[in-house]
Amino acid sequence: MKKKLSLSYPRHIVNEPVISRLVKDYDLVVSIIKAKITPDEGGRLDVEISGKKNAIDKGINYLTRVGVELQPLIQEIKWNPERCNHCTACVPLCPVNAFEIDRKERTVLFSDEKCIACGVCVQACPYRAIEIIF
Ligand code: SF4
Ligand code: SF4
Repeated sequence: MKKKLSLSYPRHIVNEPVISRLVKDYDLVVSIIKAKITPDEGGRLDVEISGKKNAIDKGINYLTRVGVELQPLIQEIKWNPERCNHCTACVPLCPVNAFEIDRKERTVLFSDEKCIACGVCVQACPYRAIEIIF
């Protein structure tokens, strides 16, 4: 399974090798999505962790034990075509063009594959056709 998490590091553990321990000791694959760490202030790391469920649970326990705060990141965006009114409000907001207009059919189409789950479009939809899955 995969889990996207935002890790907040307090200052005193910025130099701890927590990510390499997740890989070596818990047999997890960690992909860093975004990182901002400064030695004097702590920092934030957005990651996707992949591995067996049991290993992910143990890895999360380890992170909590050493003082890393965890928040879930959006896992997936679900578009509900039955609710969509094709108003196009979401189209210009998407940074990766996951919503496109089919000019011939006068409809809006959503591409799962392009979506990077940034969440920008969710609030913009007046018909609540876009849902965040954590
Ligand atoms: S969540 Fe972000 S990337 Fe995905 S469709 Fe919405 S705006 Fe585009
Ligand atoms: S904003 Fe909502 S209703 Fe409008 S096109 Fe996008 S998904 Fe459909």
